[in-house]
Amino acid sequence: MEDEVPFYVPWFRVRPMADPELRKDPVVERWVIVSTDRLSRTHELHAAAAVSRLESCPFCAGHEHLTLPATLEIPNERDGWRVRVVPNMFPAVRGDGEPQTWSDGWHEGTRGVGVHEVVIECPQHETSLANLPADHLADLLRAYGQRIQQARHDPRLAYPMIFKNSGADAGASLEHAHSQILILPQVPRTVQEELDGAKRYHESVGRCLFCDWWRQEQVAGERQLLDTTRFTAFLPYAGRFPFEMCILPKAHASHFEELAEEELAELGEVLRLALRKLQSGLNDPPYNYLLHTAPLAAGPLPHYHWHLEVLPRITGVAGFEWGTGYFVNPVPPEQAAEYLRGVAI
Ligand code: ZN
Ligand code: ZN
Repeated sequence: MEDEVPFYVPWFRVRPMADPELRKDPVVERWVIVSTDRLSRTHELHAAAAVSRLESCPFCAGHEHLTLPATLEIPNERDGWRVRVVPNMFPAVRGDGEPQTWSDGWHEGTRGVGVHEVVIECPQHETSLANLPADHLADLLRAYGQRIQQARHDPRLAYPMIFKNSGADAGASLEHAHSQILILPQVPRTVQEELDGAKRYHESVGRCLFCDWWRQEQVAGERQLLDTTRFTAFLPYAGRFPFEMCILPKAHASHFEELAEEELAELGEVLRLALRKLQSGLNDPPYNYLLHTAPLAAGPLPHYHWHLEVLPRITGVAGFEWGTGYFVNPVPPEQAAEYLRGVAI
């Protein structure tokens, strides 16, 4: 057996696997290659050169005139707001008009109708969501839920995509902590694949795949990360990225926006702990997180279960991934989970 290899931060070491493995995701049946042979010493410490752009930051309290008028504010006495949702200055989709579709028998399309908003996560110039308290994260999650609830009244809209790009390498263009809401006129393929996979499972065994999945992970234990009364977090067996996490409620629920008050508070703490583990354990890596929840028009779904995916962006996505749809994960999720469980926060 070869020696352990440092990965990304000098103090995290990966034990080489005997053989590379192709692993299948149980939901969408996407294959991932887990191979420690891919470890290279090029994944070195990324010292985050924190350039403060405080004075010109459009997201800081006092600079509200630099953004479009808010569509939602979670109030706060000191700054007037604690979480602020504003229309994106450079939207990918537009709020007006109808989602007409067209086809010339060869090319088909739909007008880009939808909502594209920025969620400013805090009034002060804080770059890391992990540094905010749990009750603040609960307010952020509450803002997500309220915007989804609002979108359910608009029959033109089909799917609320909520995501966060943290760090330039994960696609963020401004450092002040923020996330995005993109509400689309159709259900995206990635989500439809999850819905279809979950439905197939439900039809065949009569239970929710995700409910079975988290229980299975809890019994196995080796990929488990966090566990509270109502929530659990684990590293998926076929995770695409090193340290990829899945956070979900233990009680079956298809719609994120129907979270109760006490659930929001607990999820705020779970999300904070997960992000703190990444921040402390991996020196504040760039990451994305994204929410997968039921389509807007759907009633309660017995087969689908909302969840948050946290995707650290330590390894790049390159030609092989684009060409094949296979991701290559150089860190076995069992080892990543073991390491993160031991990270003190
Ligand atoms: Zn700022
Ligand atoms: Zn479920």
